[in-house]
Amino acid sequence: MAEAQGTAAAGKLVIRNIGLLLSGDLARPILDADTIAAEGGRITAVGKAKDVDQERAAVVVDAKGTTLAPGLIDSHVHPVCGDWTPRQNQLGWIDSYMHGGVTTMVSAGEVHTPGRPKDIVGLKAMAIFAQRTFNAFRPGGVKIYAGAPVIEHGMVEDDFKELAAAGVKILGEVGLGSVKDGKTARQMVSWARKYGIQSTIHTGGPSIPGSSLIDKDMVLETDADVIGHVNGGHTALPDDQIAALCERSTRALEIVHNGNERAGLLALRTAMELKQLDRVILGTDSPAGSGVQPLGILRMISLLSSLGDIPAEVAVCLATGNTAKMRNLNGGLITPGREASFVLMDKAQYSAGKNLLDSIQKGDLPGIGMVIIDGALSVQRSRNTPPATTMPEVVGR
Ligand SMILES: [Zn+2]
Repeated sequence: MAEAQGTAAAGKLVIRNIGLLLSGDLARPILDADTIAAEGGRITAVGKAKDVDQERAAVVVDAKGTTLAPGLIDSHVHPVCGDWTPRQNQLGWIDSYMHGGVTTMVSAGEVHTPGRPKDIVGLKAMAIFAQRTFNAFRPGGVKIYAGAPVIEHGMVEDDFKELAAAGVKILGEVGLGSVKDGKTARQMVSWARKYGIQSTIHTGGPSIPGSSLIDKDMVLETDADVIGHVNGGHTALPDDQIAALCERSTRALEIVHNGNERAGLLALRTAMELKQLDRVILGTDSPAGSGVQPLGILRMISLLSSLGDIPAEVAVCLATGNTAKMRNLNGGLITPGREASFVLMDKAQYSAGKNLLDSIQKGDLPGIGMVIIDGALSVQRSRNTPPATTMPEVVGR
């Protein structure tokens, strides 16, 4: 996906004394390393302190034995304009999510735009506008991949070609517009794919008045790249249909906060039985009727780990490396060459858990002590999470 413009730190960043390093990679979720170096917004080295060149650092962070993970990725948001959402008439929601560890968001359509145009030239103009504005403006430093048009009847192949040439890389949720039949949706999704535009489909009952039911047959026939909120947004499909989507499709399985939690656990277990956990990605599907959730991705990690019985370090992979892979993003993994976006956290004060991972597996949320995006400090001590037991510290600049 095209890189969002931003303010990558030009100087070198060194983070040392990392107590636990979560990689974001399902194949190896915990790394035997305690030091990271980054330069120009990219990771340059990961290893033991003695093996990492720490000279010439512009900024040095002492992690104080806390945990570092890749910045969290929210695979399903509905931004509109700047840091405002008309859905709950709130300002500053994206900055608040950054305080929940989110460093990247992917739009599933700017569908809450008041007076959203549904004619073809209008919907294309709106998508290009959103792509441009969010590419140039990053609330709290968060990277937002937006400009996600919702397909409508009457679109032709040239429309997708034109959108792609203008920088549009993603479609909004298929099914939120007038196209409700699998045949038309499949044709448009394949045109989009031909020009490098990724697609997501709405799954389940209508989310708000005006949207409608998308069942498993429509999802399978459309064959979008991401099965959006496989656990409903909010109303889930019957269990047998969710299982069928896991079994009969090879596409990404997105589980969202603003969905049916029981159905989310069912999708997780089915994916595990199929040994296809690499298809599971996480989103909030917010802002929405149920509000904005600054801690939504952390809450998903905790929910899936505590009730879905997966190790916390694996749950973190779903919200980082898995989403990066499915969404073609450069972040999500702690390895040289990747985006230097990190969340530093520790078990929350007074959590019954023995350590960070145990606290998440017991259903608690971690405390965030620092968020770094593209090698630049975005926040120290989250204003939204419970306070971390130990806080990292900037020890040199
Ligand atoms: Zn939806």
